[in-house]
Formats: sequence, C-alpha cells, structure tokens
Amino acid sequence: TYLGGRRLDEVECIVPDLAGMSRGKTMPAHKFDPVQALFLPVSLFYQTISGEWVDMEIQNQWLESDIVLRPDLSTACAVPWADDASVQIIHDLETRDGEPLGIAPRNVLKRVLSFYKEKGWQPIVAPELEFYLTKPNDDPNAEIEPPIGRTGRRGSSRQAYSMVAVDEFGEVIDTIYDFAEAQGLTIDSVIQESGAGQIEINLNHGDPLQLADEVFYFKRSIREAALKNGVFATFMAKPIRDEPGSAMHLHQSVVDIKTGQNIFSDGTGAPTQAFHDFIGGSQKYLMEAVPFLAPYVNSYRRISIEGYAAPANLEWASDNRTTGLRIPISGPEARRVENRVIGSDTNPYLSIAASLAAGYLGMVKGEKARPEVTTNAYGHPGSDQLPFSLRAAMERMEEAESMPDMLGKEFWQLFSDIKNAELEEHQREISPWERQHLLLNV
Ligand code: GLU
Ligand code: MG
Ligand code: MG
Repeated sequence: TYLGGRRLDEVECIVPDLAGMSRGKTMPAHKFDPVQALFLPVSLFYQTISGEWVDMEIQNQWLESDIVLRPDLSTACAVPWADDASVQIIHDLETRDGEPLGIAPRNVLKRVLSFYKEKGWQPIVAPELEFYLTKPNDDPNAEIEPPIGRTGRRGSSRQAYSMVAVDEFGEVIDTIYDFAEAQGLTIDSVIQESGAGQIEINLNHGDPLQLADEVFYFKRSIREAALKNGVFATFMAKPIRDEPGSAMHLHQSVVDIKTGQNIFSDGTGAPTQAFHDFIGGSQKYLMEAVPFLAPYVNSYRRISIEGYAAPANLEWASDNRTTGLRIPISGPEARRVENRVIGSDTNPYLSIAASLAAGYLGMVKGEKARPEVTTNAYGHPGSDQLPFSLRAAMERMEEAESMPDMLGKEFWQLFSDIKNAELEEHQREISPWERQHLLLNV
C-alpha cells in the first residue's frame, strides 16, 4: 500500500481512552478499509487507571458489547518513532445502531461543541502543556529525579525561561520538534518552566476538537521523544515534592460564527457581558466538575497547596498567576480567559469539554462573576477554595445540577463511578510517608 507515493506498512486505529491514552488496533496497511468499521469491546471504558473493572456486568458480557470504530481521516498522521512506515488515525466510537457512543471522551467534547454551535458560537482554545523530563524510574517507591542533561548537569537551573536548561535537554527538544513536524503538528513555542527538568510547550490556538487531538498526539510524541533519548517524560500533575506541578493551562475565547468577531469584546474594544458571564459560569460550574480538571489523588497536591503558580481558587484577575482564571494582557480581538486549574494529567477532551461547558452555562444563564481580584489571590477572603482532595471534589460533583447534561448524564455517572473506585483502591494503600512517620512513632 502506498500513501503520497511512499510505501505504507501499518495503520494504527486509535481511540483516546478515559485517561487520554491511545488504545486500539494495529493492522497491515493493505487490510485497512476506511469504510468498513472495526470493533473494540466497550469494557475498555469501564476501567480505573490501575485496570480494575468498575462494572462486572459489562465485563461478563464484553463479548456481546462490541462498539464500532469509525476513522476520522482528517486526523491521520505519521508515527515517526515507529520502525515501519506507519500512520495513526483517531477513530470515533459508535453503537451498533450508528449513534455516537456517549461515554467516549471525544464524543463528550463534540457534544459540548454542538451546544455552542446551536447558539452560533465557535469557541477557540490554546492549550499550554507542561511536563517533566525525569530519570527513567520503574520503582514506585523511589522518588522521581531530574535527568542529567547533555551539559552533564542534573536537571536544570530551576530558572524559568532559562536558555541554559533548554540547551541541556536540546536533543529531547529537537526530537520533539522532529516528531511534531513529521506529524504535521505545529508548536508555538517551547520554554524551560521553573521546575528542575520541567518543560512547557505552547500550542497554536484553534478549534477545540482539533486542539484536543493535538494534545492527545503530543503527549504520546513527547513520551516517545524522551524514551528515544533515554529519559522519561511525565505528565503527572505533581511528580516531585516541593517542586512546581505541571498544568495544562487553557486559553479560551468565543467567536460569533456569522461575524467572525470575538464576543468577549464589543465594537469599542471593551469587555462584554458575555465575557463576564463566561467567567461567572466558570466560577460557579467548574466547582462541580473539578475531577475533570484534576482527575487523580495526585492532582490535588498541585492545586491545594498554595504557591508554585498553581491556583487554589476560582477567582479571576487580569495578568495574575495566583488566580484560577487569568485574563492575559491582549488587544480586544484576543481577549480570552485562561483556565489555570487544569492539570497536565487530564484527558484533554474531557478537561476542555468541562471548561467550555462551564463558560457556556455562564453565558446562557447570565451568571454573575465575582469582582476581579486585585491582589495575590492565595487565601483571598470569601473565595471558594478549590477542593483539597479528590474525595472533596467528588462530593461537589455529586451535587451538580447543570453540568451532567452538558457532558452527558450517562458519561457523568460512569466517570463518577470510576473515580470512586479509584478512591477506594487508593484508600487501601500504605504510603512511604506513613511508614516513615508512623512505624516507630505511635
Ligand atoms: N506549573 C504551574 C502550575 O502548576 C504553572 C506555571 C505557569 O504559570 O505557567 O500551575
Ligand atoms: Mg507555564
Ligand atoms: Mg499560562
């Protein structure tokens, strides 16, 4: 089989799972037929991060519960780290009756985008992706350490925007660029973040589904680029104690489809009611959806400890890195709301869906934003603190009224069942901290 005059060996038919990892099937290129559907067991969506099944009934019936995989050919791109000439294609999931499968993360985002479209709106997003390069580590009891860079130094200088550190990991960054180019993914910029071995990649802005696909592709590429250079790349929200966490900040604006204008600014360039309501909605409804922005026990070590430029609440302010919602300095056409709560450990389809859904509800319901914060927002009096733990976040999620329908009620229930199963599993775990401080001291 040939593609663009080049021999093609294999096709990877992939689906983003609940964690945002690739799952699917690989097949010889000559067997791939874009019209004929493939099948996967629906049970792959009923697993916790550690692989436990949340619904035994589904597991027992899994042979009869295949779901249909339909390729989205617009997502086809190379697999630059593969030995063979391979192409990867994201697939959408359908029931056997041809309905979109509501519990598939890509369909969850499509659902939210369809609500915008009904109003004549097109949201525009730009994600920023932070991650750590680390020494290869396969011992869960060992702490994660920064790798030795090519200058022979360990980690980095811990100076944000330092070019020395970008040089140190130059080979990895070059490989990331090479892989991105081969896949047709564009990078806006790469910087050294403030943690030792922490890097940030900024993507261009555009359509949310396209950007979610790009983040999905990038995370896999970055892991592969790191491995090729003998290090690990991790998207854990807080991999190292007393070092900054890794965020996936999301810049969001909304364009009127007819006029092409950013609805966050009026004719004179001033902020609009829609802009304030988007913020009001984010403040109110994101609180019900924090597990989509901070999905694991570990995620809360990033957002509940004040400092390290991670938010601890959902206040808003212009150009303030202590608030959950920041308004970057910009001209009126680029007026946007940066959601800083989202961790790099999220499934991008789900965190983008939840973030846009909250802003949407704010605009259609006219939710009033709290006044802009003008000081450091840590410990801001009267602010609604982000939940301290996944357990606390789940309690807020269970009281949600409007958000479940935005993301789909069936999906909402499944996600909540999975998070509760993960919490129960974690509760059985004994950590090094407990052994260190309790073994002989109590
Ligand atoms: N790494 C920080 C966080 O966890 C964000 C740093 C920044 O402002 O880019 O949220
Ligand atoms: Mg950053
Ligand atoms: Mg940012």
